[in-house]
Amino acid sequence: MSIERWQPRQGYTRQEEVLLRRLRRTKKLFAFLRDSRHELFDDLFQAELETMYRDTGAGIEAVPPALLAMVVLMQSYLGVSDAEAVELSVVDLRWQMVLDRLGYDEPPFAQGTLAGFRERLIRSDMDRRLLERTVEFAKRTRAFDWRKLPKQLRVAVDSSPLEGAGRVEDTINLLAHAARKVVMCAADLLGWPVEKVALAAGIPVLLEESVKKALDLEWSDPRAKTQAVARLARQIDSLEAWLRLRLPEEISKPPLQGHVETLEQIRRQDLEPDPSGGGGTRIREGVAVDRRVSVEDSEMRHGRKSKNKLFNGYKRHVAMDLDTDLILACAVTPANRPDEEAAPALKGDIERQERRIQELHCDRGYIVSKVVSEVVDDGGEVVCKPWVPRNGKLFSKADFKINLRNMTVTCPAGEVVRIELGANAEFSGDACMSCPLRAQCTTAAPGNGRTVAISEDERLQQRLRKLGATVRGRERLRERVAVEHSLAHLGRRQGRRARYRGTRKNLFDVRRAAAVQNLETVQRRLMESDYYRNAA
Ligand code: SF4
Repeated sequence: MSIERWQPRQGYTRQEEVLLRRLRRTKKLFAFLRDSRHELFDDLFQAELETMYRDTGAGIEAVPPALLAMVVLMQSYLGVSDAEAVELSVVDLRWQMVLDRLGYDEPPFAQGTLAGFRERLIRSDMDRRLLERTVEFAKRTRAFDWRKLPKQLRVAVDSSPLEGAGRVEDTINLLAHAARKVVMCAADLLGWPVEKVALAAGIPVLLEESVKKALDLEWSDPRAKTQAVARLARQIDSLEAWLRLRLPEEISKPPLQGHVETLEQIRRQDLEPDPSGGGGTRIREGVAVDRRVSVEDSEMRHGRKSKNKLFNGYKRHVAMDLDTDLILACAVTPANRPDEEAAPALKGDIERQERRIQELHCDRGYIVSKVVSEVVDDGGEVVCKPWVPRNGKLFSKADFKINLRNMTVTCPAGEVVRIELGANAEFSGDACMSCPLRAQCTTAAPGNGRTVAISEDERLQQRLRKLGATVRGRERLRERVAVEHSLAHLGRRQGRRARYRGTRKNLFDVRRAAAVQNLETVQRRLMESDYYRNAA
């Protein structure tokens, strides 16, 4: 069975002309999608989309992939669910016009078809191509004067928080939630009511709707809380022992295995043996590294917007071409991961477009990434605010003269010592002891001298400090603001909370939102040019 290709009409009907006239003020992108659907989904790109089906050779939908890809974009544009998209394809004239379905009273696709198509896009990384396609499309339009734009690619990268879709719970609720999923799965496998499994497995706290109600304690009393945790832990032990006896094979196979592993993971990360003895259990002091915060979304993590502001979920990262405002690549990482980890994926996606980063504008979160040294080694330039050395009221590193040609550092009193990249330079204890500036310089113990940390990327840091010291340099540092605006816009489009669970699905969502944003950028540029004036 061959895959049907989308061949929407090129000419405009009278009804479409009326609709297009009305779409000049609000939701203008519908008009642009109608105008440019042929170029965006040309034969070559449609053939590429069709390869998603050839991969498996099975389950071929009758709906052309290009039409579904257009639906995916419009979904992101309006922020609607699969079910809403199906309805809009019938009741909304704008959707009908873009999909070339005006006058039809049946949807062109089913909800399951759309969900399946999204899975295919993700599986074959075609959501990345959809984003790239908007950049290719932009190049074919007259939105930019490509001859006047710099030949070299100037990229800015940045990230913003994306609250996860899963519910974040405290330890007791998290444990009870995970245990309830285990009990429900066991009940399903046995064909028993959930209550019967909870009683038989010795975990009656799950019989109440709320575990805290079942434990019924004075929660402000720390001892009561300790007792509650111990009681819940004992009942979880009982549940696991019961499962090993009652479902010995199923416990090591999906789906039960997954639920049991989640329960174990939460228990390991959030509980620890009570040091007061007696074999009891208590809530762990401090937060476990890489702590899971949600039962429903295993990849969400605690993150920080700033020193004092926390969030739970993910970080979305984008790489933007500073000369066109087009988003070239996106990445999503759990919120607790450092920004630098997203940089290789962003660079990889840009290189797939056969482009090379000549200038990388980033903040300090990305500066330790290997991408930074790759760009520099490749003859490119990195533009980033330098670290500001601080040392309380004492001399900071900035008060020392670092000479990278001679590999020496000179202190404010004129003492010189040799340096090594990635190591501390240490001044002589004798010189510092007799130095008249000692009180302003160091609190080292008698006999020890002042140390100065020389970083591995000291050359880069020195260059960045020079950059920040000039008017032109500060101007260049401010160019990165464009990517902050772009991210803010993307955030408003996606909403505060993630639509999906898990890193990969959220990457899909960020990529399609970025694709829509690129199309809006192209449309805006064309409107600023004579494109629409001539068409009017
Ligand atoms: S205390 Fe040591 S390092 Fe500091 S200024 Fe004096 S000699 Fe130099």
